[in-house]
Amino acid sequence: MLRSHTCGELRIEHVGTEVTLSGWVQRIRDKGGLMWIDLRDRYGVTQLTFEEGKSDATVVDQARNLGREFVIQVKGKVVERYSKNDKIPTGQIEIETIELNVLNASQTPPFIIEDDTDGGEDLRMKYRYLDLRRNEVREKLALRSKLAIAVRNYLAEIDFLEVETPVLIKSTPEGARDFVVPSRINPGEFYALPQSPQTFKQLLMVSGFDRYFQIVKCFRDEDLRADRQPEFTQIDCEMSFVDRDDVLGVFEGMTQHLFKNIMNVDLGEFPHMTYAEAMEKYGSDKPDIRFAMEFVNLNEVAQNKGFNVFDQAELVVGICAKGCAEYTRKQLDALTDFVRKPQIGAKGLVYVKCNPDGSFKSSVDKFYSQEDLKAWAEQSGAEPGDLILVLSGATNTVRKQMNELRLHMGTELGLRKSDEYQPLWVVDFPLLEWDEETERYHAMHHPFTSPLNDDIAKLDSAPGEVRANAYDLVINGVEIGGGSIRIHDREMQKTMFKHLGFTDEEAKAQFGFLMDAFEYGAPPHGGIAFGFDRLCAMFGGTETIRDYIAFPKNTSGRDVMIDSPSPVANDQLKELGIKLS
Ligand code: ASP
Repeated sequence: MLRSHTCGELRIEHVGTEVTLSGWVQRIRDKGGLMWIDLRDRYGVTQLTFEEGKSDATVVDQARNLGREFVIQVKGKVVERYSKNDKIPTGQIEIETIELNVLNASQTPPFIIEDDTDGGEDLRMKYRYLDLRRNEVREKLALRSKLAIAVRNYLAEIDFLEVETPVLIKSTPEGARDFVVPSRINPGEFYALPQSPQTFKQLLMVSGFDRYFQIVKCFRDEDLRADRQPEFTQIDCEMSFVDRDDVLGVFEGMTQHLFKNIMNVDLGEFPHMTYAEAMEKYGSDKPDIRFAMEFVNLNEVAQNKGFNVFDQAELVVGICAKGCAEYTRKQLDALTDFVRKPQIGAKGLVYVKCNPDGSFKSSVDKFYSQEDLKAWAEQSGAEPGDLILVLSGATNTVRKQMNELRLHMGTELGLRKSDEYQPLWVVDFPLLEWDEETERYHAMHHPFTSPLNDDIAKLDSAPGEVRANAYDLVINGVEIGGGSIRIHDREMQKTMFKHLGFTDEEAKAQFGFLMDAFEYGAPPHGGIAFGFDRLCAMFGGTETIRDYIAFPKNTSGRDVMIDSPSPVANDQLKELGIKLS
């Protein structure tokens, strides 16, 4: 070993010991006769001293020639520090250096590799391997590793087998575009990278594997946002001989275990909420239930009073912001500006101040009497001192807008506390979603999801009303996982493909293997997948999943460190039979 201890290990009780340390030069302070060097490795920082007259002259000389991020090995004696540093665990001691070996020199790094760095985001991404030397960045990956190991241990303990599935496959429709890979030995043919191992894990159930999991890379060629990466990781799971509540039970247990063991947070039992209720009360299929501020339907009290905008709306919906009746003109204008932002798209915002004296002041006083507004307040559960905010329009659109406003108000009022965790299962999603553009139904989850038994009869008559046996795990308004009970019957799978607009031939060509497998004793099965990067971000208390990926892509899908994607040589293209236009 090139070291006897790590740079984070030595304490006052080591005083007098001779040690060998290896690491990177973080900082050099040269005070003439006396020189200090902070030596860093993954475990911490230890201070080295070099003193003219005391240390060997050649060693002092060598030290003078070091630069930041040189890799060195030192031998020396642990001594008690004269001026101690309480901020670091090794702050009681320092090393009187006896011998110094330069293991490797370094160019001056492009940014300072310390907690406080002078490097901008782009520069740090280009030199990600240097950024990973910083505590903050490394700790996030250490958390990821801890979570992955905890997941493996927990699932292995209850008989789950981790099985790897292939990366070069055929398209698995999960609602995104595939990444494709040309096959050289099969000219003109392509593999697709898996959007998830969905069909493989179902085949493993047919194989009798019964409880499967895999911490696995998935690939989706989507437009990117802060919380999306073209390649991301799932904790992918599947179980046989289960119904919905069995699956939810196992993965509620796993989630509770992770929160307890890694963060010491007791999550308690997860409530269930139907998709319909989530949309009605929160306008979102991933409601943040750390705070109430539920939607109130005001159609009955607000319509037919001569206010055209409300009369023509499909839905007039309000939320009650507790204690906000004192909002100033400026604050109300800011809220109106917020809902009018193009991303939200509301035309305007109506407010009712429930004054402390029991009277009401609204932006629509022209149309509504005090009595009318009192009815709004009663409907909304608003008390004197509260503020009612109202939007109107087509149901789906206005719910989305109100969801944004509710979250905004929740943030503004400090109701979305970062140290509070509120999980819930959202269940009974619609099976199919109408797509205006292509004018056909899409599977809301994926085509292998089973409809609820009660709704199967409606598949032909009212496909849009059929509910799926699908579920999402939502924590603090973030979708952490999702899954479903699957179709395990060939005929039902065929019907499903038909509703999704596949001809029999297309279904056979794409998914014949799965439907064939269903003819050889496919057990009832269901599963779930967790977004592992997102789970890490939630445990780490930040929003960007990128921080938890060792070598992430930027928002243009580029890896700026290795400079990818990049053109390939003509010969390579020729070999693949590809011509660029
Ligand atoms: N394959 C699904 C997904 O990636 C998860 C599942 O249904 O298990 O969302």
